[in-house]
Amino acid sequence: MKIGAAIFLGPPGAGKGTQARGIGLRLGVPAISTGDMMRALAAAGNPEGDRARTIMGKGDLIPDEWMNALVQERLKQPDCGDGFVLDGYPRTRGQAEALDAMLAGSSAGIKVFDFRIQCEDVIRRMTGRRVCSSCGAIYNIYGKPPRQAGHCDRDGAPLATRDDDREEVIRERLASYERLTRPVIDWFRQTGREIYEVDASRSMEEIAEQVCRILSAP
Ligand code: ZN
Repeated sequence: MKIGAAIFLGPPGAGKGTQARGIGLRLGVPAISTGDMMRALAAAGNPEGDRARTIMGKGDLIPDEWMNALVQERLKQPDCGDGFVLDGYPRTRGQAEALDAMLAGSSAGIKVFDFRIQCEDVIRRMTGRRVCSSCGAIYNIYGKPPRQAGHCDRDGAPLATRDDDREEVIRERLASYERLTRPVIDWFRQTGREIYEVDASRSMEEIAEQVCRILSAP
C-alpha cells in the first residue's frame, strides 16, 4: 500500500520509536530512525563515525546539513518506494525545509503526526526505567516491574538507572524539544500540511490503530 511520508514528531518518551517500528511492519514500509542511523554511523569506525561520536558524546545535535544528506540518501533506497515512517527527523526548522524540498515532486502525501504527552508523564515513564547491569534487559517500575524489586527476572543481577534517564537530563531534553522541534510543527501547519494529533498517553494498541487508520486513508 502506498502510504507516502509519515512524520512522527513528539517529545522523547512519547513512544514514537516503538510505534514507528510496529506501524512500519504492519504497513510494509521502513521505519527510519535517525537516532539509529547515527548510532550505526558512530559505530562504523571511520572518520565520519569518529566525528558523529564526538558530537553525540558532547550531547550536541548533528548539524542540519549532515543530517539532511544522510536522510536524503536513505530515502533514495528502493524500500522507500511505497512510503516510510520517519522518527526523529525533522528535528529543526532547517531540517523540515530540507525534507519538504526532498519530497517536492513526489506524488505521495506527507502526513505529520504530533505525539502529545504531558511533561510529567514523560518524566514518570523515563525515571521509572531500570536496566539490568548484566544482560541489559529493560524494566519500568511503573509499567513493567521485575518480579523481585531491584533484580533482573532472567539472571537476578541488580538493576540500575541509566544516566540518560535522570530527571534533570530528561527535563533538558524536553526543553530542547520545545525550543527546536515545536516550531517544526508550526511550520508544517503554516505550509498547509495535515497535522494529526496523537494522544500518546493512551495504550500502544489504541495509538497504533489511530495512526494506521489515518495512513491507510487515501
Ligand atoms: Zn539481566
